[in-house]
Amino acid sequence: MTDPTSTRQGALPALSALPTRLPQRRELLTEVPGPSSKRLAQRRAAAVASSAVSVMPVYVADADGAVIRDVDGNSFVDLGSGIAVTSVGASAPAVVAAVAEQVAHFTHTCFMVTPYEGYIEVAEELGRLTPGDHAKHTVLFNSGAEAVENAVKIARLATGRQAVVAFDHAYHGRTNLTMALTAKSMPYKTNFGPFAPEVYRMPMSYPYRDAHPHISGKTAAKRAIDQMEKQIGASSLAAILIEPIQGEGGFIVPAEGFLPTLAEWAREHGVVFIADEVQSGFCRTGDWFASEHEGVVPDLITMAKGIAGGMPLSAVTGRADLLDAVHPGGLGGTYGGNPVACAAALAAIKTMEEHDLAGRARAIEALVLPRLRALADELGTAEGPIGDVRGRGAMLAIELVHSGSTVPDPETTRAVAADCLAQGVLVLTCGTYGNVLRLLPPLVISEELLSEALDVLEGALRRHSVAAQEV
Ligand SMILES: *Cc1c(COP(=O)(O)O)cnc(C)c1O
Repeated sequence: MTDPTSTRQGALPALSALPTRLPQRRELLTEVPGPSSKRLAQRRAAAVASSAVSVMPVYVADADGAVIRDVDGNSFVDLGSGIAVTSVGASAPAVVAAVAEQVAHFTHTCFMVTPYEGYIEVAEELGRLTPGDHAKHTVLFNSGAEAVENAVKIARLATGRQAVVAFDHAYHGRTNLTMALTAKSMPYKTNFGPFAPEVYRMPMSYPYRDAHPHISGKTAAKRAIDQMEKQIGASSLAAILIEPIQGEGGFIVPAEGFLPTLAEWAREHGVVFIADEVQSGFCRTGDWFASEHEGVVPDLITMAKGIAGGMPLSAVTGRADLLDAVHPGGLGGTYGGNPVACAAALAAIKTMEEHDLAGRARAIEALVLPRLRALADELGTAEGPIGDVRGRGAMLAIELVHSGSTVPDPETTRAVAADCLAQGVLVLTCGTYGNVLRLLPPLVISEELLSEALDVLEGALRRHSVAAQEV
């Protein structure tokens, strides 16, 4: 069911080096973390809440393209993009110029008070770029969680129904409603309740863990549909909320057929199908939106992260009739659609088009996946630690398990990420079981730098395979 209009056709662009301010190279001048980072860590401990943790122990002084330079002068290859945010690079020239131009004029007026063109232009662009050629409207917010909350508000009001379905391993944010929608308890939910009612959790399609016996996408969708019909009833269900490729939950790519079957059932029963593309959107998976891969046209799409080159902005775009069902003044917020963030978004979108970042995401997949799969084959499941290699575009993952099993191995996952950091490569982890290494490089990364980072990652994985330990 591949969308014939999908951009996934033709030759892949070269991962050429684009002009950058900082040299695109990995360079360690001190131990990691260095003395200046350590001093900041001390000040932090005295002033910052200990609940607000950082994955990396190094403090940033500058960042550009796919390189982050720390306060000790060390340069790291960034394979995380600040969690899929800086897809256009850490200080993309077009974004920097657009932001500078906008702040020199006005930083804020509040769109609810005195509106401005940038907001309208972003809405026009999102209407053009999101799947489907139906009439679409947009409303802008600040964070991914806020977009998800508002999509649920819209779906409930428009349908007059209350129940909302989310899936195993889902991540939708940390506000009260989105905590309820998020699957994983620690650290996101534990002792933060009570949670919002009328949220129901359904089984996800997780091909690696649905392999014995093999469960097809369609069968996995029917399993969820059966539960929705029995436990909720379609006539009580306002919305199905799903990440087309799950992010924090482990970069889980559902089996082909899962999403289209759910979307079709939703359409038949007047249930609003909401694609949470906060992490998977904006060229990350090799299309503008991950929903496009199987030709799914969501009723509502939530977007944030990659939308504005690092500025805080989020959006709900979707069927005009749903968005306009809400009474005037029913949606909004002081900062929603901030003019500086809108200017950044327009520049980021332009950069994505000019440099064919969707094509580059596919080129990244073509470079990385075969290499990781070859390594997985070579190490073998008996030696571990690679259980699965998966993903699409530049949203790629390695699931680590104990040798000869599918038992999650979060310790090795952390150790491999730490090993990479010590060698100047930033790699993030994720997953319900904390056993997934996720690769989210900026889409502007050059082939040379990406290959070098992969050498480091491959070396770390080899060192942590059982076979290597026995030698
Ligand atoms: C990150 C994320 C969110 C929450 O976004 P915030 O901006 O952190 O509130 C919601 N949904 C998905 C899929 C995400 O990856």
